[in-house]
Amino acid sequence: MKKITIAIDGFSSTGKSTIAKQLAKKLHYIYVDSGAMYRAVTLYFMQHDLISKHKFNKNKLIIALEKIELKFKFNEKLGYGEIYLNNVNVESKIRSLEVSNLVSKVAEVSEIRKKMVTQQQAMGINKGIVMDGRDIGTVVFPKAELKLFITASADVRAKRRFDELTKKGDKVSFDSILKNVKERDFIDTTRKDSPLIKAGDAIEIDNSKLGLEEQFQKIYKIALKIINKD
Ligand code: C5P
Repeated sequence: MKKITIAIDGFSSTGKSTIAKQLAKKLHYIYVDSGAMYRAVTLYFMQHDLISKHKFNKNKLIIALEKIELKFKFNEKLGYGEIYLNNVNVESKIRSLEVSNLVSKVAEVSEIRKKMVTQQQAMGINKGIVMDGRDIGTVVFPKAELKLFITASADVRAKRRFDELTKKGDKVSFDSILKNVKERDFIDTTRKDSPLIKAGDAIEIDNSKLGLEEQFQKIYKIALKIINKD
């Protein structure tokens, strides 16, 4: 069967990664969470005291970038690759609200984006990949055969993230999450380099009211149609 590239973009907490993982599993494709890469870079800067709410020196971050090595290692049990920062699994650490609060500032830096995009494009060289993020259909894989743009209201997204974090035992308030979701939307859509926008040829899906299974079946059908087209 022909292999294609699937690019999934959209706002934070729209459930992009859930869709992407499901699709990759069903199609036996590689799944790559590009947001995890920006989060892992942010975590490194936090761990090395290079960034905080009041500290942001772009040049220092760019210098430190050289010391960062990111890798995805396949986890058989989960069925997808987990992110490793300098050989340490940081999959859980990168999901904290602290990282969420700083990551979009980090993702604005062009030098950082360049390094991430180069690595992402290399991972997709043989196609058979589903990648989710903000600039996948516009910058990373502009020739992807299937592009999706996922949206949902800010309240619905904040509720989803709140449930996810509290389930993990994190003590967070709904308001702080809603604030973070809105702030990231603003930074991601207004930044100069690779802002979050819908690619002209992307299919937009608002999943505020769609059930997970319903949404998956809809997208899977579209993917199969493209794969089976010669
Ligand atoms: O997808 P996730 O919410 O984990 O991404 C975290 C942040 O990383 C986003 O808010 C965005 O600022 C940045 N990002 C990006 N480009 C991508 C993926 C994520 O700028 N392709």
